[in-house]
Amino acid sequence: MEKVKPWLGEPQNTIAVLQKYGFVFQKKYGQNFLIDTHVLERIIEASEITKDDFVLEIGPGIGTMTQYLCEAARQVLAVEIDNNLIPILQETLSPYDNVEILHGDILKQDIHEIAEKYNDKKPIKVVANLPYYITTPIIMGLLESHVPLANITVMVQKEVAERIAAGPGSKTYGILSVLIQAWYRVEYLFTVSEHVFNPPPKVKSAVIRMTRNDTQQLGCDEKLFKQVVKTTFNQRRKTLRNSIKPILGKECPLTEDPLFNKRPEQLSVQEFIELTNQVETALKETIEK
Ligand code: SAM
Repeated sequence: MEKVKPWLGEPQNTIAVLQKYGFVFQKKYGQNFLIDTHVLERIIEASEITKDDFVLEIGPGIGTMTQYLCEAARQVLAVEIDNNLIPILQETLSPYDNVEILHGDILKQDIHEIAEKYNDKKPIKVVANLPYYITTPIIMGLLESHVPLANITVMVQKEVAERIAAGPGSKTYGILSVLIQAWYRVEYLFTVSEHVFNPPPKVKSAVIRMTRNDTQQLGCDEKLFKQVVKTTFNQRRKTLRNSIKPILGKECPLTEDPLFNKRPEQLSVQEFIELTNQVETALKETIEK
C-alpha cells in the first residue's frame, strides 16, 4: 500500500508533527497517542471495516489511527474535543476526501443524527483509542442511545476491559459487564503495554470488541433491568432475596424460586432478565392487591 505523507504510524513522523505545532499534551483530555504500527494494524483488522463502512472515530488526536481508517473505510467522522488538534488534523488528513473532522465533545453529539446523516440509519462501526477518563459514559452513551451499531472496537484501560468482558463467578463481573453483555457479545482481544503510547499512560491497556447481538429485544423492561442490576450489585454480598427488597418494598411477595437465593455475581445475563420479569410480576401483584 502506498502510504500518504506524513504517515503517522511511523513514530518519527508523529514527533515531527508534534514539534512543528509545538503541541502540548493535555492531561485532562486523556491524551496518549498511539505510536506503534503493529498495534494500529491489529485494531484496524479487529474492527472488520470494509470499503462499505461508515466509521465514527472518537478522539482522533493528531490523526494517526484516522489515516488507517480512511484507507480501510468508505467514510470516517472523527470527533475531537481539543481545539489545538484541529489544525493538525486538517493537515495530517488533507490527503483524504473521505473524512470529516468534527470539533466537539463526543458526549454531546447526537449519534442518531450522525448515523442518519452519514450512513442512512444503517449500523455504524465505532473505533477509538478512548480517552480513559470517560470510558464508561462513552460506551454506555452509545449503547443507551440504541443507535444501530455493528460493532465497537476500542482501546480501554486493562482493568475496565476485564470488567466489561467478565462472566458470572468472576470477581470483576459487575454492573458494566451485565449491562453491556445484555446487548453485545464482548471479546477481550489483546493486552497492550504502556510503551506503545506517547506519552505512556500509568496503566496497562487492552483492546476489546463489542458486537451487537442478533436479538434486538432485551426480553424484559429495560429500565427495571438496569435498576435490578445496579441495586443487586451495589449489595453484592447479599442474596437477591435481600438485596432486591428496596425495589419491591416491604410488603411485596416473592416466589420460592431458588434464583432468589443466589448472589448477583452468580447470575448470567439471561438470569438477570428472568429475575427482572419476576420482579415486574411481583410489583404488579402488589399494586393489584
Ligand atoms: N486516537 C489518537 C491516537 O490513538 O493516537 C488519540 C487517542 S487519546 C487516548 C484520546 C483522544 O480523545 C485525544 O485526542 C483527546 O483530545 C480526545 N478527547 C478527550 N475527550 C474527548 C471528548 N469528550 N470528546 C471528543 N474527544 C475527546
